[in-house]
Amino acid sequence: MDLGEQTLIFDTFNTPQAALSLRSAAEQLTGRKVTYVINSHHHSDHIWGNQVFEDATIFATDSTFDLMRTKGVARLERMRSQPMPLEKLEEALEQEQDPVQRKDLELYVDEMRQVNMALPNLTLRLPDVTFERRLAFAGSKRTAVLLTFGGAHSPSDAFLYFPEEALAFMSDIVQIGFHPSMGDGNPDEWLRILAKVEALQLSTIVPGHGVIGTGEAVGIMGQYIQLLQQMAYAAPSLDELLAIDAPAFCASWQASPVFKENLHFLYNRIHNL
Ligand SMILES: [Zn+2]
Repeated sequence: MDLGEQTLIFDTFNTPQAALSLRSAAEQLTGRKVTYVINSHHHSDHIWGNQVFEDATIFATDSTFDLMRTKGVARLERMRSQPMPLEKLEEALEQEQDPVQRKDLELYVDEMRQVNMALPNLTLRLPDVTFERRLAFAGSKRTAVLLTFGGAHSPSDAFLYFPEEALAFMSDIVQIGFHPSMGDGNPDEWLRILAKVEALQLSTIVPGHGVIGTGEAVGIMGQYIQLLQQMAYAAPSLDELLAIDAPAFCASWQASPVFKENLHFLYNRIHNL
């Protein structure tokens, strides 16, 4: 985002290759180097491109910084010593008949191929500055407010709010046309946080995954979480729960396997498993 005299990047993708494309697009658009980089949360698909922004200052919440230097570093080491076996994924792709799942798998295989290529030279550059609740970036063109209401999709999720434009980069707190993974977060907190975001009355949302949308996406995310919680409470057994297909409103969303993973997570959470 062009703040006037500074350029701000929100999240850096899963690989340095993808981040390099983002960096050159930003440089072309603004005619200057990237000034600030935000890491919304500690998941690798939002931070593994950090290393290409050598000249920028990187920001994250205190908790995200801690998670990056502990879990994040451990995950990178694990992936480096045991890269994803692509042959197995390619075999699964060949056998997949369902068009929605096939598309998902294709994207996933492609992404994992890029990750495996990047791993030997990937270093996790950690944030330079951390914050607890709120940080404002005042530019001559626009002001950006970096906020966190706590952990929703992960233990700590930050988002970037542009009050004058009623616009926000919502990170994985709001995803559009994309099943949001719930297993590393807290669904009750997520609903509480979505209610607070709703009060901002956003017109435009840039989601963590999916396409740009309107403020309605906040409510849809809440409905999704509530509906899955209800399904998990109502199910007589895990097998019966996992046999249920995704409801019509989200049947065509991307990341389709995440629907059942979410149900499984919620069932275990309810039954303390
Ligand atoms: Zn995430």
